[in-house]
Amino acid sequence: MLGAWERGGGQNPIDRGLTLLALACPELSADELAALSIGERDRRLLALRETVFGPRMTGVVACTRCAEPLEFDFDAADLRVTGTPGPLALRVDGYELELRLPDSRDLLACAATVPADAPAALMQRCVLSARIDGVAANAASLPPELVQEAAQCLAQADPQADMRFALQCASCGHSWKAPFDIVRFLWAELEVWAVRMLQDVHALAGAYGWAERDILALGSTRRRHYLRMLNA
Ligand SMILES: [Zn+2]
Repeated sequence: MLGAWERGGGQNPIDRGLTLLALACPELSADELAALSIGERDRRLLALRETVFGPRMTGVVACTRCAEPLEFDFDAADLRVTGTPGPLALRVDGYELELRLPDSRDLLACAATVPADAPAALMQRCVLSARIDGVAANAASLPPELVQEAAQCLAQADPQADMRFALQCASCGHSWKAPFDIVRFLWAELEVWAVRMLQDVHALAGAYGWAERDILALGSTRRRHYLRMLNA
């Protein structure tokens, strides 16, 4: 986890998601991790979060109407999407599209484009084949309404990629569904954890002269007890 924290420090959010994902799935290669759909990535990161830091998710967000800070507190299970995903094919107005779910490679490729063009660029990458009245069509020149429908189709086929939780502001009564970014949330927690861990290493190394490697190899229970004795 400390290695992931060091690697992720200089990374963009998409690569950082992959660094965290490698912790969740050490058996998969970098290419295999990058090829997981965003919903699958987030499902696995949610499971990692539960294993490492527990199921309760707490934090603070600003009300989208009155900007009052609002504490949230919910269970990781509330974010888990179950049910049958939608199909990856679309038939509209003579068009037939075959689609695939976006993955981290797609997000990385589209991060380099102008933000306004990113949704269209992403869709273009995710169209496996396009036909109009049975004749092959160019995925780059589909009508914008169709591109929008295709984007909706992908969202329904991978609902875990868009996690939301319900909030109600105690000050103004406004209620809404806030998006939940598991990469950003988990990363913030990992940073807090890593800094605390280094402080523990610093205290124990200074007091006992132990090496960092040996201190990290101690279980958290033993580490906590030594620290308590130091602070007694
Ligand atoms: Zn409010």
